[in-house]
Amino acid sequence: MSSPALRLTPQRRAVLDVVAESDDHPTAGQVLDRVRERVEGVGAATVYRTLALLVESGQVAELRVGERQALRYDQNIHSHAHLVCTACGQVQDAYVQLDAGALAELTEKTSFTVAGYDVQLHGRCAPCAAQDNAKESAQ
Ligand SMILES: [Zn+2]
Ligand SMILES: [Zn+2]
Repeated sequence: MSSPALRLTPQRRAVLDVVAESDDHPTAGQVLDRVRERVEGVGAATVYRTLALLVESGQVAELRVGERQALRYDQNIHSHAHLVCTACGQVQDAYVQLDAGALAELTEKTSFTVAGYDVQLHGRCAPCAAQDNAKESAQ
């Protein structure tokens, strides 16, 4: 099962719980804030180290949404795509499947064997899109 090295102290437990209850893909800083709401006096280093351990043991997934962006943490470790709002930075889960025919064609063209894929779709979330539309019609 999971790495035997990961003994769940109350502080680590709180980190795991916070990530498990967050579906907004929080950054390490956001996880730290949420853990501190539950457990007093938790050090940032403890939270960051625990996140790294949880990623290593496969209980939490790490997600990079942009080059200069902080890493996000995902409680959903199953293969899924992400919808990234380029206006507010919100990240939503989505399930999109690449067409098997398209993958076969790609392999044929490039001789590259695909073992898996990460999909990120960039655009506007519903509230940001609505705001854009409101701005446009106000002009
Ligand atoms: Zn947005
Ligand atoms: Zn996700």
